[in-house]
Amino acid sequence: MLTTGDIARVFRQLADTIGAARDELCRLDGVIGDADHGIAMADGFAAASRAIDVLPGEASLADQLNAAAKGFLNAVGASSGPLYATALMRAAKAAGARAEMPLTEAPMLIVAMAEGIRSRGKAEQGEKTMVDVWTPAAAAAEQGMASGLTLPEIMARIRDAATVGAESTKSMVATKGRSARLGARSLGHIDPGAASAAMVLNVIADDWGQRVKA
Ligand code: ADP
Ligand code: MG
Repeated sequence: MLTTGDIARVFRQLADTIGAARDELCRLDGVIGDADHGIAMADGFAAASRAIDVLPGEASLADQLNAAAKGFLNAVGASSGPLYATALMRAAKAAGARAEMPLTEAPMLIVAMAEGIRSRGKAEQGEKTMVDVWTPAAAAAEQGMASGLTLPEIMARIRDAATVGAESTKSMVATKGRSARLGARSLGHIDPGAASAAMVLNVIADDWGQRVKA
């Protein structure tokens, strides 16, 4: 089972990992954006994790993910704020008002997050955004579930898809978001939102992949 304790732990890990990557993400955003992406993501996940930690003990998975969404949105002024807030609200809806869900359904949360980001930002794959990571990761989750792979196998595929997706943005020209104004000058640089998305998915995939082996 994926419990509220598991969700709280994953968000603490996200806050730690993304917090440690803050400067690196700002540096990437400095090349093709406005150098604030590390601040946005680090503040966002710190606030999300705090929002979960102060919930009462009887909170459901949906309560946790909705609180995380609200915390993230309130903490972040950059465009990643509403994108991740929508992603987390979609995950809340998928998780539902229950205290735990079967681990076999956990990949659905990643699918729901990717759908939230796409519906909020209206970006397609190939436009050099975080969608270039979330969409292939969600596809890996769906395919893995459809072929009856184990959770560790599905998580490994999500990790690979996310890493390849982030790297693929280097050879793309940005047509969405702030870096679109650079046009062809955005070529050759990894998209900061894609880089952070791969970090987020790696944390989740590592945690859930090991969770079931233990
Ligand atoms: P801002 O551009 O407002 O400073 P951030 O620096 O936090 O926001 O985030 C920038 C990232 O947001 C980009 O690298 C890109 O991945 C992502 N992004 C921007 N616009 C969109 C969009 N419409 N859909 C999906 N992702 C987007
Ligand atoms: Mg920025």
